[in-house]
Amino acid sequence: MPAVKVLSVAVSSRARIQQDKDAAIELANAFDHKRDVPRDCRLGVLLRIALPRLQGSDLTLQDTEDALDLSIAYLRRVHLFSFYNGCVAASNISDVFRGNNATSTIHLRLANADIILEQTQNPGSTAKQEQSPKVDLLVQHLNDAIENALEESKSWDSSGPAYLVSTEIDSQAKDIEKDEARTEDVWIKNHAVIDSDGRARCSFHFCRKLFKDITFLKKHLLKKHPEFLKAERAKSHDTYMMESWDKQEQRPVPPILVDCGRVFSTVPSRVLGAVEPMAADPEPELWKRQEERRKQDEGGKARYERNYDNHNQLSNHGGPPAALNQPLLEPRGPRQNGFLDVDDMHEEKVEMAFEDVEVQVKPPKKKKKKLL
Ligand SMILES: [Zn+2]
Repeated sequence: MPAVKVLSVAVSSRARIQQDKDAAIELANAFDHKRDVPRDCRLGVLLRIALPRLQGSDLTLQDTEDALDLSIAYLRRVHLFSFYNGCVAASNISDVFRGNNATSTIHLRLANADIILEQTQNPGSTAKQEQSPKVDLLVQHLNDAIENALEESKSWDSSGPAYLVSTEIDSQAKDIEKDEARTEDVWIKNHAVIDSDGRARCSFHFCRKLFKDITFLKKHLLKKHPEFLKAERAKSHDTYMMESWDKQEQRPVPPILVDCGRVFSTVPSRVLGAVEPMAADPEPELWKRQEERRKQDEGGKARYERNYDNHNQLSNHGGPPAALNQPLLEPRGPRQNGFLDVDDMHEEKVEMAFEDVEVQVKPPKKKKKKLL
């Protein structure tokens, strides 16, 4: 979920809209060009469709604001670029989704910004002097960021080839595409049974349809059994995904739970590492801290012993944790953290003793023969 943030009064001001719109469109155009976005999907085309009045003479301030908002949304969604958050871009989409990137934030403009600005600037010249440096600083930061981003984008035009993500990823994507095309050819050949007269039969055992030739069968296979091809094509991505996963330092996986014995129960630990993923065992550190706490307690041992019984009684009601009263070198065993799982089946041994039990054995009743 993206975070939603309301822009400051000065940034929300209508006075900024025109200049911000021009800057956002210029940035989007530069990104579109750099990443070779298909012509009919570029921001310029989208703006012409969404806001036809933009080029005309009957342009309203609302149109300009809409164009700015559309450009900012486009920059964020297409180029992972945050306009209001310091003009920075995320390098990958997962950072945006995880919410730890500037691009994860959606900005809203303050509706009554101009009214607030007027109110704060009107009452007396002294108040104005106090207010303006702070506001100027925030706006100045944004202006600088926009200017820097525009400056940087200008260098893209003249230098370097266009690429979508990065040259490395782009070349890998091309390799995958080639491999997928190869896979498709092989898959079609493997699923065609060609007769001596050139007719082709679908080799799926539940289908077995016959076609005039391989061209018709190819169409049939792609249209009627695409899910099998999809599974086959997906295999082309496996190696690349695995390599990329291995290279990552910070893996976007939840922390694993490490069993730290009955005293500490399960403790979450982050999964780290590049080629060899690893998670630190938190138990030694926990014991160390436990030991330090115990040493601190030894100072007040007499008091501790005096209150020992009380501690035991209070341990479940805000007193020291029960773990403090247990011996340090507990063997790891089944956890006892007070949680009772009602669905957990326990095997209990029940010994049956029959020696002293008097069992009265009734003599079997004699069956009466039914009289017919
Ligand atoms: Zn078929």
